[in-house]
Amino acid sequence: MLIFSKKDALQQHLQQYRPAQNTIGFVPTMGALHSGHLSLMRQSLLQNAVTVVSIFVNPTQFNNPDDLLKYPRTLEADAAKIATLDEGIVVFAPEVDEMYDGNTTSAHYDFDGLEYQMEGAHRPGHFDGVGTIVKKLFDIVQPTNAYFGEKDFQQLQIVKKLVEKNNMPINIIGCPISREPNGLAMSSRNERLKPTEREAAALIYKTLQGAREQFKTGSIAQVKGYVTAALATHPEFTTEYFEIAPEDTLEPATVKENRKYRAFIAVFLGNVRLIDNISLN
Ligand code: AMP
Repeated sequence: MLIFSKKDALQQHLQQYRPAQNTIGFVPTMGALHSGHLSLMRQSLLQNAVTVVSIFVNPTQFNNPDDLLKYPRTLEADAAKIATLDEGIVVFAPEVDEMYDGNTTSAHYDFDGLEYQMEGAHRPGHFDGVGTIVKKLFDIVQPTNAYFGEKDFQQLQIVKKLVEKNNMPINIIGCPISREPNGLAMSSRNERLKPTEREAAALIYKTLQGAREQFKTGSIAQVKGYVTAALATHPEFTTEYFEIAPEDTLEPATVKENRKYRAFIAVFLGNVRLIDNISLN
């Protein structure tokens, strides 16, 4: 399997695919790979002549320095997991300087307000960091198709907006959330949960499923009341936000209209921050 750390070498390698109909699939990740990441790669393998996976812990999207410090870096194990899928996958694993040239800062982006909601409100600068790194990676890889998980639904919508606003000829493909057997959305951060916390975290998805049930007949206020009550029975959870929002604007809704809605949640379990979401209709 080919692993590149330099953008020039990667670009040179990808030249062979550019002519004709040779599509390039791209899966950007921060490593510490789990089955959720691998499901994105499988989707890309099915739809493209070649799949590129980037592994890069992007410093500018971390608003919490401790979170950045603790983020797992496991390139060897990640490469082994990718190789079990397909030896033909191309890995791009650059150092910070290769991506930022000694200037590790974000550009500022206008995502038509998507950036101010939920994760944007609670993680200042996060989506500027995401926009900065995704734009840099797209410019290097120039993929035909790029795959993002619905686990980070707000990020998925923001990347679609980035591509639209910059007129980039890239299809952004959203992929379903992979879950552990107890329903917990897979995440690199799950590794930091104690075994008892990991079991207890099943409550997050159970509550979202309950919210979907309540949403069929209840008002938004009723659904919120249900979620608050469900989580209050478990004091080890601290809810940062629970919102119901239309998928296109992500602006928290107070009344139901004829639109496509999702419920979004962020909770702390101990000092580990977990996010999840579910389609409501
Ligand atoms: P990350 O390494 O956390 O930046 O994630 C890289 C990509 O994998 C992003 O598009 C995520 O949305 C996606 N991803 C992470 N966890 C999951 C999951 N449980 N199911 C599906 N996609 C995921």
